[in-house]
Amino acid sequence: MRLNVLILPGDGIGAEVTREAVKVLEHVARQFQHQLLLSEGLLGGVAIHQTGTPLPQETVDLALKADATLMGAVGLPEFDQAPPEKRPEKGLLGIRKVLGVYANLRPVRSYKALLDSSPLKNHLVDGTDMIIVRELTGGIYYGTPRGIHEEGGETRAVNTMTYTRSEIQRVARMAFHLARNRRKKVTSVDKSNVLENSQLWRRVVVEIAAEFSDVALDHILVDNCAMQLILNPRRFDVLLTENMFGDILSDEGAVLAGSIGMLPSASIGDRKPSGAWVGLYEPVHGSAPDIAGQNKANPFGAVGSVAAMFEYSFGLKAEAAAVNRAVEEVLNSGNVTADLKPGGRPATTEEVGDAVVAAL
Ligand code: NAD
Repeated sequence: MRLNVLILPGDGIGAEVTREAVKVLEHVARQFQHQLLLSEGLLGGVAIHQTGTPLPQETVDLALKADATLMGAVGLPEFDQAPPEKRPEKGLLGIRKVLGVYANLRPVRSYKALLDSSPLKNHLVDGTDMIIVRELTGGIYYGTPRGIHEEGGETRAVNTMTYTRSEIQRVARMAFHLARNRRKKVTSVDKSNVLENSQLWRRVVVEIAAEFSDVALDHILVDNCAMQLILNPRRFDVLLTENMFGDILSDEGAVLAGSIGMLPSASIGDRKPSGAWVGLYEPVHGSAPDIAGQNKANPFGAVGSVAAMFEYSFGLKAEAAAVNRAVEEVLNSGNVTADLKPGGRPATTEEVGDAVVAAL
């Protein structure tokens, strides 16, 4: 298969973990005899330095041409006081918008070797394997009217939670498609006992479920979901949620995995005529200025993002499984970075990348 991939290393440890992820991508492509066409672009602080803008037009053009984009992270402390338009993070929001990615997928699974890294008891976390599907472009973060204004001698702040039927339909369909290739269960999160917005959400999800008779659907209120994620995370397979609930729940889910450096993510848009989904793949973590340039960042989130790319953008499940197996093997060997290893000599970012390739 021809794999046309854009690489956006970004800033800080973004560049370091992406280097290792690309090593893995190149190795798997060779091993499974795919033709890999890589391009590289500027995004974030590094792009501001070289071009004056966090998302240069050249990067936009490259992203639209590529089948999938692999990103590191953006953000440099020197821009912390800059206006929003001039900040590296603006590039990230921009590239998501350009690609039209409306669903954020976060696989959360527990690894045996990391059970002690989770603050939860081992028997609760062990066996966790879910994917959180968060709607990314609608809901209260984007709804209008919004703002803070004076009214009758009082200051009032307004945000609006709004969804259309079609916005719910497309992300719900994606969740059901994903469930079909997993344990065939979707749990839809809402607050339909209080919010009309959630009542529409639930109604539309039920309608979409009728298209997927092989997938089971259940509903959970968001407050109970927050509790069940901690009490019984194994009960979830595909967790479908709107934007703000997903923002909060996916960070809660992150705790289950042990370290933020472990977590991959995929932001997915519409399907292309080829059947592949448009996708932007990146580790969940940021540019970590405190450890940047020291070769000690954990690259597993970036490497896991490569696995997600194989699976979702290219439908290459064996390749994705091979990467995930290699990650697990390296974790079991104890050859891991400092965030996962409180004692003994930790491995460097580069050594972990090499170990994954060796395991492959
Ligand atoms: P961060 O994720 O960069 O770091 C938080 C903490 O986790 C730090 O102590 C860091 O050392 C540690 N950490 C993160 N990733 C790690 C890894 N792979 N291995 C080991 N340790 C790791 O979050 P922050 O400090 O809040 O933000 C730093 C910068 O990154 C800011 O400019 C922020 O805006 C940006 N940011 C970007 C993204 C993105 O590009 N998607 C996401 C979050 C934050």
